[in-house]
Amino acid sequence: MLSYIFKKRGEIIMADNQKMWTDLGMDLEQHDILCEVLPGAIGDVFLTQKNSPAAMDYFDMVLADVHGLRPGELVEFKKNGGKVFGTFCAYVPDEVIFAAGGIATGLCAGSQFWVPGGEKYLPANTCPLIKAMLGARFEKTCPFYRLADMYVGETTCDGKKKAYEILATDIPLHVMDLPQMKRERDHLKWAEEIKDLIKIVEEVTGNKVTEEALAENIKKINLKRQALQRLYNLRASKNVPISGTDVLLVSQIAYYDDPERFASMVNKLCDELEERVENGVDVAKGAKRILVSGTPMAIPNWKLHNIIETSGGVVVCEETCTGTRYFENQVDETGKNLDEMVQNIADRYLGINCACFTPNTARADDVIRLAKASKADGVIDISLMFCQTYDIEGRSLEQRCKEEGIPFLGIETDYTDNDAQQLKTRIGAFIEILG
Ligand code: SF4
Ligand code: SF4
Repeated sequence: MLSYIFKKRGEIIMADNQKMWTDLGMDLEQHDILCEVLPGAIGDVFLTQKNSPAAMDYFDMVLADVHGLRPGELVEFKKNGGKVFGTFCAYVPDEVIFAAGGIATGLCAGSQFWVPGGEKYLPANTCPLIKAMLGARFEKTCPFYRLADMYVGETTCDGKKKAYEILATDIPLHVMDLPQMKRERDHLKWAEEIKDLIKIVEEVTGNKVTEEALAENIKKINLKRQALQRLYNLRASKNVPISGTDVLLVSQIAYYDDPERFASMVNKLCDELEERVENGVDVAKGAKRILVSGTPMAIPNWKLHNIIETSGGVVVCEETCTGTRYFENQVDETGKNLDEMVQNIADRYLGINCACFTPNTARADDVIRLAKASKADGVIDISLMFCQTYDIEGRSLEQRCKEEGIPFLGIETDYTDNDAQQLKTRIGAFIEILG
């Protein structure tokens, strides 16, 4: 019953986290099976990459001990009375949770391993991300799902709303009522929802969210966003200094790492990438530049990036919640009191263009803008199977790309490898026709 640390590419070191997992009430037998799959997946996807930046070592290490390192820190935090809040979506404002002295952590749900467990509670024709959420909780095989004191959900898609009702039978869960339009009154309403979240986190942590603490944490989370923006800007270089697969891993880790440490590690990576850009280093010479848009790719879902980057393409941007939707736009830091700060937070988060909104033409604008900025040769739009909103929106996005002369490929897939060969053929053919 071991988890895995690999400090350098190619080197896997085992670490024993068994006591922590036992204390968290995990199903160790099932967890062993999950742990057996992970090093193989890491090896296939990451160790086969050539010329990965040295500063990726940190992110590789976090990944390799994903169920040990960060959970260990959170368990220590809890021993000293700290409270951990598990979140599922890019709309939940971390600033508020950190301002109350809590810690926000993403609950990933990106593995097929958890899907059958979720199907015990949900119809099979539910999005794999939602099924994995329930599987991870009820099968007791994820330390993050076990150690969180409270989950914070949101009324984004219908599947998630219903799934939260089921999760709430097993863990305290607060649902934020996300408006589905972006009128002025929706911005005001979202600010009220954030105020409610403040009350809840104050109750759970026993700490007040002061003006000072909120201002400080707005800055802290903005710095993390700025670091990610810097990373994405560097990918726009003619010579691509880092693979999309590596950047996807960084974006996935953004959801649960300590924000300050994460920002400093991303900036360190960017320093190295700046040198690479100057020296003309290209990790994918001759590869076609692809912008990936669509549904989030939670850890350890690297399926599409891996296929694209082993089929003659290189991903240069992700318009997803494990991409630009997570970090674009800062929270305005000029708020003078709690009300102004909360409204600024609300405005920034409502600037995210998720397909759950109507109308949502701004998302297509984002895709076109980002495709141009990242010099993408084509767009591959991904919809997780049974995700109605992204699937439907894919059609209008295709039309918009056509009007702009940007080649487009729409894909619907799940977490299994059943369609991997077919996708390889389709994606390979798409890449071949790109200029
Ligand atoms: S795609 Fe929409 S619902 Fe899903 S994480 Fe992103 S913002 Fe939330
Ligand atoms: S991918 Fe679609 S269906 Fe799945 S959780 Fe996100 S919005 Fe809901």
